Amino acid sequence: MSIYEEVEFEDLNYDPKTQMYTYPCPCGDMFSISLEALWDGEDIATCPSCTLRIEIIYDEEDLPQLREESESEDEDEKGGQGEEGENMKKEVDGLAENTKKSLTIK
Ligand SMILES: [Zn+2]
Repeated sequence: MSIYEEVEFEDLNYDPKTQMYTYPCPCGDMFSISLEALWDGEDIATCPSCTLRIEIIYDEEDLPQLREESESEDEDEKGGQGEEGENMKKEVDGLAENTKKSLTIK
């Protein structure tokens, strides 16, 4: 595995829609790496059209927060509490009914 070039993080192009970082490759295509991969500690961006790779020089503290993660955390907090409460009620009702039935049968 050979590295074509070492590229500073701030020299990359960022697309906030896809959360992908790109850098022009000499073959005419683009090296690309996702923000998620960078957070995972990945620092090698590959080109889809050739075998060249670049190494990205960055510190984790330079990375923007992952958008997906923060959104899903908010949803979990809001949705989780309501669902849990309903499920608890259903379970209690179900238990009570089962007890009544079994008592009637016996
Ligand atoms: Zn290329």
